[in-house]
Amino acid sequence: MANNIKVDLNDPARFRPVVAENDKHRNTRFLGLCKSCGECVVKCPVKCISWDPKELGQLGEPAIIIDVDKCIGCEICEQICPDCAIEITNKPKPKT
Ligand code: SF4
Ligand code: SF4
Repeated sequence: MANNIKVDLNDPARFRPVVAENDKHRNTRFLGLCKSCGECVVKCPVKCISWDPKELGQLGEPAIIIDVDKCIGCEICEQICPDCAIEITNKPKPKT
């Protein structure tokens, strides 16, 4: 997988969580843990995980990015990631 992304792989900031959220979910990526194996990309039932055009994973290959507005919060990606690089938090529904 060739890429032209410029990222300092030794930057400790890469191990900080990267959060995207809306009113239904908070999706957290740990870019410094992702080994770019692609398991989550393949297994996401709504295909809302793709390769990040700007960020690299642990091995210098593109990390994943999640479209939080397409995500249904099934947590499959969190469960199957072998490197604990994704955390999905479903927010409680507002009381009506
Ligand atoms: S929680 Fe489910 S729908 Fe959302 S990104 Fe992960 S696998 Fe895809
Ligand atoms: S987030 Fe996990 S399952 Fe997805 S590509 Fe990275 S290491 Fe693989």
